[in-house]
Amino acid sequence: MISQDRQTRPRLDILGRPLRDLRISVTDRCNLRCTYCMPREVFGKGFVFLRRSELLSFEEITRIARLAIELGVRKIRLSGGEPLLRHRIETLVEQLAALHDGDGQPIEIAMTTNGTLLAAKARSLKDAGLSRVTVSLDALSESVFQRLSDSGVSVGKVLDGIAAAQAVGLGPVKVNTVVKRGVNEDEILPLARHFRHRGIILRFIEFMDVGTTNGWRLDDVVSARDILDRIDGEFPLQPADPNYVGEVARRWRYADGGGEIGVIASVTQAFCRDCSRLRLSTDGKLYTCLFANEGADLRSPLRNGESDAQLGGRIMAQWTCRADRYSELRHAATEVPRQRIEMSYIGG
Ligand code: SAM
Repeated sequence: MISQDRQTRPRLDILGRPLRDLRISVTDRCNLRCTYCMPREVFGKGFVFLRRSELLSFEEITRIARLAIELGVRKIRLSGGEPLLRHRIETLVEQLAALHDGDGQPIEIAMTTNGTLLAAKARSLKDAGLSRVTVSLDALSESVFQRLSDSGVSVGKVLDGIAAAQAVGLGPVKVNTVVKRGVNEDEILPLARHFRHRGIILRFIEFMDVGTTNGWRLDDVVSARDILDRIDGEFPLQPADPNYVGEVARRWRYADGGGEIGVIASVTQAFCRDCSRLRLSTDGKLYTCLFANEGADLRSPLRNGESDAQLGGRIMAQWTCRADRYSELRHAATEVPRQRIEMSYIGG
């Protein structure tokens, strides 16, 4: 039996932040090798990905999601790796979409994808109950995109995926662009020009020091301020209010009514104090921060037959002991931790 308190009040961590979001990585594999995320030198032929038996099953994921909802989660985002590579992902979406909060309200199910397989899957994802998608696209120029994603995939394929998502109502579709100095900063304006007036929310992300394999340097970060100045120079921008507390992107509107954009200033203006995200890795570890180096294993207790109450207790313990605020402390840190999880493993 779930108490009334458990139904209505989200659990708070040590810094008073409520548990609201659950990000689930459904696979550690990807069909791109973006140089800032899964560089081929590390994730090449010799890299050992998780075996099938190591992945949480859909039933295991859904059970954890249900327990997390009892503790306050209201939004679930599927990520990876590339979530559309997970066989029959629509089945997982369907199972998650059937979950409800304590008031009987459905949970929002979103997905972050590189879009390469989206054109073929948009309709079945929508039918399965997916609420919306965010598509990652770092360049419109074919050569810049292919260099950055270290692949032969064409930009057109991703644009087709975005169009299909819009057509079936997986919107508002957001497009995420990670900006890396000297690599794709000249793509900022072409992307803005392309997505204006199309009902698509383009969001620029500061290149982050996630993991330890992407050779991150502060000099490679193009700041949100710089990105906004470039766009504002051609299309004047006006600030817009956040949609909700804890929204990671700061919103801006084109003054001429061309729509909105967002900037995710995770490096220059850290937003840890509003972070309400819990992350579940592909192999069932729970992480309370994108920059964590350790997670709590839920897979073994799940497979050892623990009850809902025991598993829920583990999730609650993880959240209520949480004090992470890595991005706020980043600049004070004197050395880079030797161990840190990779984004492809924990999901973006
Ligand atoms: N494969 C999916 C995709 O491409 O969207 C989902 C996983 S990917 C890890 C999720 C998001 O993380 C993408 O938008 C990607 O650009 C972003 N990302 C990966 N590494 C990053 C980094 N070092 N800094 C900022 N964003 C990053």
